Amino acid sequence: MQKTAEIVSLREITQRVKNIRHSFAHVLAAAVKKFYPKAELGIGPVIENGFYYDFGKLKITDEDLPRIEEEMRKIAAGKHVFKKELWTSQKAAAHFKKLKQPFKLELIRDLLKTKNQKLKTGKVGMVYTGDVFLDLCRGGHVKNTSELPLDAFRLTRIAGAYWRGDEKRPMLTRIYGVAFGARKELDEHLQLQAEAKKRDHKKLGQELDLFTFSELVGSGLPLFTPKGTTVRNLLDDFVWSLRQKHGYQRVDIPHIAKKELYETSGHWDKFKNELFHITTREGHEFALKPMNCPHHIQIFSRKKWSFRELPQRYASTTKIYRDEQTGELSGLSRVRSITQDDAHVFCNMAKTESEVKSIWDMLDEFYNTFTLPLKVRLSLRDPKKPKNYLGDEKTWRDAEEILKKVAQERKVNYVEQKGEATFYGPKLDFMATDSLGREWQVATIQVDLNMPKRFKLTFTSEQGDQRDIYMIHSAIMGSIERFMSILLEHYAGAFPLWLAPEQIWILPISDKFSAYANDVRQKLLKLNEDLRVRVNDENETLGKRIRQGETMKIPYLLIVGEREIRNNGVSVRERGKGDIGAMKLEQFIEKIRIFAQYS
Ligand SMILES: [Zn+2]
Ligand SMILES: [Zn+2]
Repeated sequence: MQKTAEIVSLREITQRVKNIRHSFAHVLAAAVKKFYPKAELGIGPVIENGFYYDFGKLKITDEDLPRIEEEMRKIAAGKHVFKKELWTSQKAAAHFKKLKQPFKLELIRDLLKTKNQKLKTGKVGMVYTGDVFLDLCRGGHVKNTSELPLDAFRLTRIAGAYWRGDEKRPMLTRIYGVAFGARKELDEHLQLQAEAKKRDHKKLGQELDLFTFSELVGSGLPLFTPKGTTVRNLLDDFVWSLRQKHGYQRVDIPHIAKKELYETSGHWDKFKNELFHITTREGHEFALKPMNCPHHIQIFSRKKWSFRELPQRYASTTKIYRDEQTGELSGLSRVRSITQDDAHVFCNMAKTESEVKSIWDMLDEFYNTFTLPLKVRLSLRDPKKPKNYLGDEKTWRDAEEILKKVAQERKVNYVEQKGEATFYGPKLDFMATDSLGREWQVATIQVDLNMPKRFKLTFTSEQGDQRDIYMIHSAIMGSIERFMSILLEHYAGAFPLWLAPEQIWILPISDKFSAYANDVRQKLLKLNEDLRVRVNDENETLGKRIRQGETMKIPYLLIVGEREIRNNGVSVRERGKGDIGAMKLEQFIEKIRIFAQYS
């Protein structure tokens, strides 16, 4: 098996670029305060590709950004020194109180409450940008605003953001900017953004007629058209073909369950606010399932198991439901009904490692097919926050060791990330890099010793005693919706032949040749009854139908008229290549016969 998982640490940016980005955030706040002295200051952190700053009491639109950007350039040109002082929290609080800055006051109060010994000094950092601006800040700046590359930054957009991400707190105005170490990187970034915009899956999904949304059904609930459903099914069939090879069995489960199931699993407590609740007419409480694991567990626990019968491997492609906030929803990437290609392995400890490896093999084969190289992250628990997780320390250490061992044996570079584990176990997260170089989190493998304990899952060992069951959660695509959005943008809508919802269009030059076109279609179907081939003899000019086919990214357009009938052939237009000439039908058939599945 070929190995795709060439692993590099998460995109590394240098400290210098981080400092540049963060310094721009200060300069941005200074510029905003100049025009809008009453604006309240939130926070201004570094993010991927740039920075943002949040402001209260600020009503502006995108049209105001050029003016603010201009002011930022002026300020930066003033060669102001960034200087940090430590103030007592009382002094800092008095300062921000006088300036009517409630968010800064709250941040100071929280700093005093922190358990982090390093921060708990009673002193807070105050950072001057020369004499133009003073902000509460830990640090991370350039020395002087003259170091800021003024041709390598840009304010990009504004957005609403709740203070501290809490929907019950005030909505602030967030100004986003991008910033890089040099002009060239900014240009590359903007170019990539433009290309990404062209490939936006929401736009492509509509153009290619793959999915739609309905006001009546509700936001975040995508509806898949016949073509979109074809793509979904092909992807799912592919995953199933791999699962089958690795000994999985399909199971089927309902979409709701009693509250008690999720109380036992821990989901009720953890995801209270994201669950869709249902009360029956008899007053019983149910929830739409937010995960499939507890259902699969109930299938497993239908009987007693001996070591001989393990592992049991259950797979379902099924929907789960999360009550996401409306503002967070986006196309297929963030939805309320999510189709998971979910699977759970129930095994003993000794088998855990080989099961994880076998899932990894499937991932390699799957992502290879799409030329989506994988990076790996080992997500561990945050030992400082035991309350966020189920189970005891030893159990966690055991589970984490297993994943570490597999990752090391696979000889991949992986990054460890503390605090990214699920509440029931550590996991391997797989990130795919698409054709634009963007990274998307896709698959996961999770080792879980906690949920089996909560449901008291055991098996009879060779020695005849009851032992703990280890559970492995895995999804190959993650979610079909999200994976489809990634593929659409990765291929710019031009799916490979095996995955194209319509593979071949036959275009008769005029009505007269429709019969021959249908004849060709029949011959192709005889070759392979699964071929998705359509005769397009709509009442349009040939030129227009060819353009339609190109817009719909159909892999092959076959044009037939007098000459083609005479030669018992077709004239072929191949996607991306244009006219590749006339050929006998047998020749074309030979050409696409190479079309094995999944290549
Ligand atoms: Zn700062
Ligand atoms: Zn699961």
